[in-house]
Order: sequence, then C-alpha cells, then structure tokens
Amino acid sequence: MTWIEDPAFTADEPFGPQTLPYGVLPTGIAVRVGDQALPLRPIADHFGRLADLVSASSLNPLLAAGRTAWSELRARLTELVTASSAPRGATLVPLDGAVLPFDVADYVDFYSSRNHAENVGRIFRPDGEPLLPNWTHIPIGYHGRAGTVVVSGTPIVRPHGQRRTSDGPVFGPTGRLDIEAEVGFVCGGPVASRLTPSQAVDHVFGVALVNDWSARDVQAWEYQPLGPFLGKSFATSVSAWVTPLEAFAVARVTPPPLGNDVLPYLVEERPWGLDIRLEVEWNGDLVSKPPFRAMSWTFAQQLAHLSANGATVRPGDLIASGTVSGPARDERGSFLELSWGGREPVRVAGEERTFLEDGDTVRITATAPGEHGSLVGLAEVVGTITPADV
Ligand code: CA
Repeated sequence: MTWIEDPAFTADEPFGPQTLPYGVLPTGIAVRVGDQALPLRPIADHFGRLADLVSASSLNPLLAAGRTAWSELRARLTELVTASSAPRGATLVPLDGAVLPFDVADYVDFYSSRNHAENVGRIFRPDGEPLLPNWTHIPIGYHGRAGTVVVSGTPIVRPHGQRRTSDGPVFGPTGRLDIEAEVGFVCGGPVASRLTPSQAVDHVFGVALVNDWSARDVQAWEYQPLGPFLGKSFATSVSAWVTPLEAFAVARVTPPPLGNDVLPYLVEERPWGLDIRLEVEWNGDLVSKPPFRAMSWTFAQQLAHLSANGATVRPGDLIASGTVSGPARDERGSFLELSWGGREPVRVAGEERTFLEDGDTVRITATAPGEHGSLVGLAEVVGTITPADV
C-alpha cells in the first residue's frame, strides 16, 4: 500500500507507521520506518512552517517548539509515509550511524519501582526496613551527569573508583559493574516551573530506553549520606530513536496504589502509568522482562515534583524512571537484584554470571500496546563493556 517497501514497516511490527520515532543521522534528523530511516532534510519543503525544525542537526529546536508543532509534524509525517507514492526527494537509508539525538540539558534519575527499592533496601540494608518512610510520599530522585549520557552502541569502559575492603579503601577498576533497565522521558516545550501533573504532559516530547550503568562497589561505599555520585556518572546509555509520547495513548494504565494519599500537587486526574514491556538480553540470552506498568510514580508526577520548588524544566532535559523491576525474579531490572547482591549467580549463555565482565553485551528493548492491536516500539539501548583504562 505505502511506497515504503519494508517488511518491518507494517502495523504488525513495532516500528510500523503507528510508532515513527525520531533520531539523528550524520546528515540530520530522520524518522525510523521499519528497519530503515527516512532523512527529513531532503524533504523539508513538504513540512511548510516546520521545515526549519526538521532540517536541524539535532532534535533540540523541535523539542523547544512544543506540543502543537509536535502533533502537526507527526500528522504530516504519517501522511507522507503512508502515501502510495514517495514524496519528491525522499530516499531511505540504513539506521547505522545514529548519533545522540539531542543535547542533554539536565539529567534526573528517579527511583519509582517499589519492587526495585525494596530489593535494594534488603540487599544494602538487611537489618532495616526495606522501604524508607518518604518513598510513598515523594518521587525520590537525584541529579545525574548530563555530559556522560551516550547514544546506544557506545562502548562502556569499565570505570575506576574508590571502594571499601576489609583492609580499608582501595582505588581501581570496579568489580561489580551492573545495569539498570529504565525508561527515559525527553522534555520539551517552553521553559517552565511549578508544573501540575496535567501540565507536565505538555513538556514531554517522547520516550526512549535508558541503561543507567552502575558500579555497585563504588556506589555502596559513597552513597551515604548524599546519594549516587561516581558509581553512576561515568556513562548512561540512551536509545538512538525517541518514540513520540503521542504513540502511547493506548498504553496508559493506572499505577499500583502507594498505600497512602499523596499531597495535592502530586495528584493526577487520570494517571500516566504506561504498559511498556521491557526485555533485557545479556550476551544474547533473555534474562529479564521488567514490567513498566508496575512503577508506582509516573513521569507526570516526577516532573511536577522536580519543578515544585521553582526549578525549571527545559528542552533537552532527560528524566529517567529508575530501575524497572516487577515482583517476579525474572522481572528484575538490574543484575544486583537478579543475582541478589552477587550471592545467586545467573546462567548466561552457558556461563555463570553475577556482575558484568569485559566483553559482555547488554541489550534492552521494549514494546507497548498501540491502536488496533498494534505494538509501539522503543528502540534498543545496547552497550558492550570494554576493559578499564590502564
Ligand atoms: Ca538508576
């Protein structure tokens, strides 16, 4: 029917016309159609007043343009890619070579999975209550390092750090390198603060997968009293393709109850839980299927909370959900949890693993339900561990 002849560009496939994620190739902005990309700069004159936005070298001008422009662009793109003949100037190219699609402004990482928070509490503080008393009242988060957010496919160099041994602190390559499978929200629209949850939605352009690489031995020694620092700031990987929030209309769900009321500034009229189903592959073996619908706090509540004190949300901000873990063992979104602090090794591609070894590859993918039984895809986030610098 459509001029795009790609078996992966049908409504039965995650990157069919219901998805249309944006990325950036060395030649500029492109939209993913199946397993190929459609560069937009050569067909910019088909977009009228949006021509400059689609001709840019990163998504940032589009992020800043706001919800009305995003909807208009998506509607026009849908017309163009589902037409029976190709728009003048259109060519399809391989997905290879995609770069980080936007300049990351601020990067904030939350902690919104009750199962993850309880598992980590039990592993790190076995003698205390697994969940701290603020957790059901505040979307807990910390400010990460925007400058070391890297695009999917970037090799991850095993980081050095300080960690505790029975003989005192030592410095060297981490021995407990881990992943955190997360969902990231890419912000846009006008610079704003003190957002309500319903206003926050107009400041989210799209969704991408995030792997928050974590050095657990470094983290365990440094995290009290001020939280994660060098144990996480060496690298955070993000998908090369950002799926527009509009594609997730059918995937909305109500999150599990917190067990107490929240303060009025965090109340959502209609909650923004999302039924996104993640899959984590370790060296090609599927080791976990974390369910995002089990997350207790939504991105709308997270944005309302982070801007509640007057802090601004601006285009290019990246808001990550926190590790996605469900109640079952094969739904845990980190290897810390899967191996229960390293005590219960996991069988991976015929070998026993607790944490990551040099040469290991982790690939995270996800889908969500779309209209008419279709699937909406989130592009993979993949990374391979390379040896520590000497
Ligand atoms: Ca994290």
